[in-house]
Amino acid sequence: MAITENVTPTLAPGELPPMDVGSRMDALRSRFGELGVDALVVTELTNIRYLSGFTGSSAVLLVREADAVFVTDGRYTTQSEQELSDAGVSAHIEISSEGPEAAAAAAASGVDRLGLEADSVSWSSQRRWASELFSGELVPTTLAVEALRLVKDAGEVARIRSACAIADTALAQVQSRLSEGPTEKEFALELEAAMMRLGAAELSFDTIVASGPNGARPHHQPSGRRISDGDLVVVDFGALVDGYHSDMTRTFAVGDVGADRTRMVDVVTEAQAGGVEVVAAGVQAAEVDARCRSIIEEAGWGEAFLHGTGHGVGLDIHEEPRVSGRSAATLASGQVVTVEPGVYLPDLGGVRVEDTVVVTDNGCERLTLASKTPQPIH
Ligand code: ZN
Ligand code: ZN
Repeated sequence: MAITENVTPTLAPGELPPMDVGSRMDALRSRFGELGVDALVVTELTNIRYLSGFTGSSAVLLVREADAVFVTDGRYTTQSEQELSDAGVSAHIEISSEGPEAAAAAAASGVDRLGLEADSVSWSSQRRWASELFSGELVPTTLAVEALRLVKDAGEVARIRSACAIADTALAQVQSRLSEGPTEKEFALELEAAMMRLGAAELSFDTIVASGPNGARPHHQPSGRRISDGDLVVVDFGALVDGYHSDMTRTFAVGDVGADRTRMVDVVTEAQAGGVEVVAAGVQAAEVDARCRSIIEEAGWGEAFLHGTGHGVGLDIHEEPRVSGRSAATLASGQVVTVEPGVYLPDLGGVRVEDTVVVTDNGCERLTLASKTPQPIH
């Protein structure tokens, strides 16, 4: 498969193209038939942001066949009007002091079959909808909005590309510091400060810096351990741009790490490149996982590859499609996924290599471009 890099210019956070948010609710309505609903109550905040442009922390969005009702509380009166208008979204905005769910329920009173997002509505909330708020048929829906979010439009890809570029540049600015014996925490802070200076709105997730034996834990939190000669250092981090995430892992060899650790780096780097090579529209996500896994198994470390190969990236850092052996997903053009195999051994430490890529018709485009075979740091 064809792998491309840098085919589209990276834009700074301030010069990103607008996104076509206004058409997304119609795309959702076109799914009402297959979902078996006449209207959908959207409570998952990331989905509300996707459909409306609203970035606040309290809202419910009722999407009906002909229109939509957006309910929030008094803190967000001005912000919701501004953000929905900026996004080109038309909805009746209601400000409720009794909680947005009750107001959304009142607006849904004439609906026959009302969808609730089964993966985010709590048990107590569902019981309230059934006993107090709504008298028609409640329909649990799964991935109703997430299915639309799978394929990113050009504006979304531009944001993820920008977030990836910030991470690349930040790493280039600070990676030589690894030779100066910083603690994991100190190095994480330097990397994070560099990303914020370069225009990240926030961090994409809690930075992982896992050195020496700590590298054997895939989700280790940066500690006071001092990075020193002979360490492998797993660095997993990302930036957030206008709500969109980046995700990249590089593993550095500090000083002389010996033959076994060098072989770990080589094997995982090869497995990761093999996985990226498989990525293309029409390919099963499980095939990408199988390619990475087979290379690591051949090297004798199959048991030490402790997690799935990757995940979708967008408004959430981990979203559909999952790239694992159990995934039933077929990759499609415009999806953004990670490929991140790893090997974790208590005596040697850890190696993980991760890129964020956009799926294309005949392959993929890599968005995280930092070198995967960095020169050993001395
Ligand atoms: Zn990561
Ligand atoms: Zn990841």
